[in-house]
Amino acid sequence: MTSLNKNDQLIEILSRSLGNYKKNKNGNEVIFHCPNCHHHKLKLNIELNKNIFHCWVCDYSGYGIHKLVNNKEDELLLKKLTNYKFKSSSDIFKKDELKEEFTLSLPKNFQYLANKKNNPIYKNIYNYAINKRNLNDNIINKYNLGYVNDPTDKIHYNRLIIPSYNENGKVNYYVARSIYDNKFKYYNPPANKTAIIPFELYIAWDFPIVLVEGMFDAIAVDNNAIPLLGNTVNMKIINNIIEYKTPKIYLYLDEDAQKFVYRNCEKLIEYGINPKIATPPEGKDPGNLTKEENAKILKNYEEYNFNTKIKYKTLSKLK
Ligand SMILES: [Zn+2]
Repeated sequence: MTSLNKNDQLIEILSRSLGNYKKNKNGNEVIFHCPNCHHHKLKLNIELNKNIFHCWVCDYSGYGIHKLVNNKEDELLLKKLTNYKFKSSSDIFKKDELKEEFTLSLPKNFQYLANKKNNPIYKNIYNYAINKRNLNDNIINKYNLGYVNDPTDKIHYNRLIIPSYNENGKVNYYVARSIYDNKFKYYNPPANKTAIIPFELYIAWDFPIVLVEGMFDAIAVDNNAIPLLGNTVNMKIINNIIEYKTPKIYLYLDEDAQKFVYRNCEKLIEYGINPKIATPPEGKDPGNLTKEENAKILKNYEEYNFNTKIKYKTLSKLK
């Protein structure tokens, strides 16, 4: 047997499961038949140096080419050859760090808005939710929205409170939005945001996921949306996306945050996650659009490819 360079070795192993292929001149990129959609043409693009794959037809994509082969031996061989272990997020980030769970308590005297009351504070908060936020009873119930019925609690009084729960139903965060448009609109409790997956309880990782900035955005999308509580995707979220092989990731930031799209896309790409980009119309955020309007915008996503990469890179540097 002649000695093969590493990429040729990888290709040979892959072809045992995937069959025919074509490779580019420098041998870094190779195309196979897609094992997911079985398109009759060679549509599965593999970047050997990055250890990522992507099908141009069905969007099947991910990090770790060993996932593409159909037998354990070749899988292990590929993992070894690609140093998969080193690049897996759980190895880069200490297991403890990822396991760390941040929890906190809801404010004292927290009341559920779903329990109708006949007092002024209930009515004020409820009216704010319905009329100013365009929420409805279903949403109020589904997201356990609430308020604090205690005028001496200067921090939380007169605020609509949105709790976030972790996978086990424990509160891991909350946001308290003033019902008045004063300077101090949002109260955010002190928290280690890198140890939180906001709204985790409402997330099904094996379905397409939408990443948005705030809790009102996630509620408005109301379809497997994670509020980032800012504009950076944290490692806990990335780790779960990899572990659960989440089929699609939409990055759907506010209109004025498009300068952060590039940074987040590059971070996701680094882990073999190929995001779709959705953008609200000028002057709007996902949070002030209806569920239907958001669904429509998400349907018209952009792929993260050469052109959009340059566009968002430019936006990130010049705005
Ligand atoms: Zn495919």
